[in-house]
Amino acid sequence: MARYRAIRPDEGFRFKCIRCDFCCGTGPNVSLTVFDIVRMARFLRMDPIEFTERYVKVIIADLLPFFSLRDKGNGECVFMERKPNGETICVIYPARPMRCRLYPVIVESVKPERLYLDLMCPGVGQGPVVRVPRRLLEQYIAERRRHYDTLYRLVFEEGLEPREAAKRAIMEAWREAEEGAKWADLDYIESLGGV
Ligand code: SF4
Ligand code: SF4
Repeated sequence: MARYRAIRPDEGFRFKCIRCDFCCGTGPNVSLTVFDIVRMARFLRMDPIEFTERYVKVIIADLLPFFSLRDKGNGECVFMERKPNGETICVIYPARPMRCRLYPVIVESVKPERLYLDLMCPGVGQGPVVRVPRRLLEQYIAERRRHYDTLYRLVFEEGLEPREAAKRAIMEAWREAEEGAKWADLDYIESLGGV
């Protein structure tokens, strides 16, 4: 059986999170934009470059940097913690990346119609019929477009080395956030809904 099923942005699907931790505990592979990185760094009151060095995997492919969350070496997300009763929590939950907010919906590109459901999530097929939160999806798509546009500009127009471009893109987003950009407001992001 295929792991992913294509869905339309307006399509309903049954889902109820059963808190099994599969998504956070088995190699999160959460791709990040610079906006995700800045929201998390601000939440933890960390310098964004220090945050990136500590928690973000950066790989270079075709001259562009790609960011994803690190795991602890055992597949568990660096931000997943276990309480004494065995229950797990996300310690940056209010600032969690867009990928985590949308899961089990996977956004494959910068096109809103390219969506997939991860059928490995045991919550899919259970509970009530839900829909992809349209405003959150639009916000994420807009952030992804800006993220890649910025990196393309820095690498291919300004000629920066990819790792330098990565740092510059993060710092540009950081400055925007410090100047009060709406996307940096966690209450605003929360108001866009979640799956
Ligand atoms: S979203 Fe899915 S995989 Fe993640 S904890 Fe909930 S049920 Fe499990
Ligand atoms: S950031 Fe939080 S929600 Fe996302 S994978 Fe890590 S622990 Fe899970």
